[in-house]
Amino acid sequence: MAASKRDYYEVLGIAKNASEADIKKAYRRMAMKYHPDKNAGDKAAEEKFKEANEANEVLSDPQKRAAYDQFGHAGVNAGAGGGPGGFQQGNFTDAFGDIFGDLFGGGRNRQARQEQHQRGSDLRYEIEISFEEAFHGVSKTIKFSAFSSCEPCNGSGAQKGSSKIKCHTCHGHGAVRIQQGFFAIQQTCPTCRGTGQVIKDPCTHCRGEGRVHKSRELVVKIPAGVDTGSRIRLAGEGDAGEAGGPAGDLYIDIRVEESALFKREGNDIHCEAPIQFATACLGGEIEIPTIDGRVKLKIPAETQSGKTFRLRGKGFKSLRGGGTGDLLCQVNVETPVNLTEAQKKLLKEFNTLIDEGGKKHSPRASNWFDSVKRFFGSVQK
Ligand SMILES: [Zn+2]
Ligand SMILES: [Zn+2]
Repeated sequence: MAASKRDYYEVLGIAKNASEADIKKAYRRMAMKYHPDKNAGDKAAEEKFKEANEANEVLSDPQKRAAYDQFGHAGVNAGAGGGPGGFQQGNFTDAFGDIFGDLFGGGRNRQARQEQHQRGSDLRYEIEISFEEAFHGVSKTIKFSAFSSCEPCNGSGAQKGSSKIKCHTCHGHGAVRIQQGFFAIQQTCPTCRGTGQVIKDPCTHCRGEGRVHKSRELVVKIPAGVDTGSRIRLAGEGDAGEAGGPAGDLYIDIRVEESALFKREGNDIHCEAPIQFATACLGGEIEIPTIDGRVKLKIPAETQSGKTFRLRGKGFKSLRGGGTGDLLCQVNVETPVNLTEAQKKLLKEFNTLIDEGGKKHSPRASNWFDSVKRFFGSVQK
């Protein structure tokens, strides 16, 4: 078939002094045009495609190209180029590598990858704590199952005294080329997972993986001040890596239960307390809850319903240090219910006296009525 081979530069339609980029470009053009997937059953196209592949294989390799420039076809061992069984996948990838390299994870830096072991996965654990625990901080024991380093082989995956040998699948390259439709893509070797080496006698306990699934128990220290959405990272507590690779991390996601008494806003805590009508009028002391226990709150005389009292430093500790929130307690006057006739009578008498005082006793109500009057007055004009 290739009895008299055409000149490789001619095949790709480029000049003798073509740059590497020119070669790549020309080859890509030819490969697109004559690819078997696009020219099913077309023998001539298939030949052209093989020819272009062969030419590219030589010209894109500086060493082969130099030999070819000097000695012609005899200078390069290009017999494999158009051999039976279709085209070389080899350099086809490279032509597209710069387009798809990022997509498929490249595979250009094979050497660097050989030393790399599979890192273990990161794990996520959700933990629910009470409002009080979030306030004070708490230690929680968590149980979960994850990959842990295999003890008999110390994570290496190899039976004691056994060594590693070159991977048969990728011949130590760490990567294999896979044809997927129109493209040949390079992938991490599935046998050795990119390390280029395999274990000759795998550890029987972990079957060569260097890690086993185990249940674990861990004490997690949760600092004071955490809130729902806070995340704690425990470096190296995730899945153990394969064959001695580094472990992943464990992320603890915090969820804080709602409290019946308190609401959190930033580092401040809000709460409500009912007070009696008489206390609001005359002043007094009430007990209000804080997370640390009850405290007494002084209610000044003539306190209006809805007033908020601030207790400095009784809120959450700031997670990032510096400053503690406050406790804000809103007092609401409770309207007495289930009154007896005697109580009602007294209240009516009391109200008569209040009415007699007018503005003096109820400045807010008086102002309000004045405003209402003004409003309707202006509307009707
Ligand atoms: Zn391999
Ligand atoms: Zn093992």
